[in-house]
Amino acid sequence: MRLFLALVPPLELRQRLGELAELAQARCGGRRMPEESLHLTLAFLGEVADARMEELVHWVSAMAIAPGEWRLDHWGSFRRPGIVWVGGRSSALERLHASVWDELASFGFSDRPGHFVPHVTLLRRARRQETQNLPAIDMTWPYRQLSLVRSFTEDDGARYQILARSPAA
Ligand code: ATP
Ligand code: MG
Repeated sequence: MRLFLALVPPLELRQRLGELAELAQARCGGRRMPEESLHLTLAFLGEVADARMEELVHWVSAMAIAPGEWRLDHWGSFRRPGIVWVGGRSSALERLHASVWDELASFGFSDRPGHFVPHVTLLRRARRQETQNLPAIDMTWPYRQLSLVRSFTEDDGARYQILARSPAA
């Protein structure tokens, strides 16, 4: 099964991100992420065997993460897949990313990315990636737990299911 570790936005923020996705789609085209799927990926694990998934569920369910606030303050894009996102640099998230990958290494996951760009994907396959005239971003995302998420591939995009959460800090 296909798994990743993510932060899930609080409801109020999710709605605001959904509104931004709508604005961005009007300008850039492409496919909007469904509001209930909006997230920040901390670690993409890819295909994982069932037995290994159970180990990960136990690990995440007992994981203590340092709570924090992520400030989102800019638009960005990834050109080739046509992704339009909002995000913000954060040393706290970089530390969380690093500590999660340190622990993942002990599970044998070796696909640690070279660098981490904290972002929330709003659009995929955007036709234009012109974000200059979109509204300025200034949002705060308070987080206190990490989610282990399963991704199901469907015709119109992936659907996600939360398998485990770390205890709320
Ligand atoms: P789809 O691939 O069907 O369009 P998706 O990208 O939302 O949908 P997944 O590919 O399962 O679904 O990805 C789940 C999360 O992990 C997403 O946030 C995605 O951006 C991220 N992700 C996927 N592949 C990688 C990768 N190779 N490296 C880093 N992050 C990835
Ligand atoms: Mg994908």
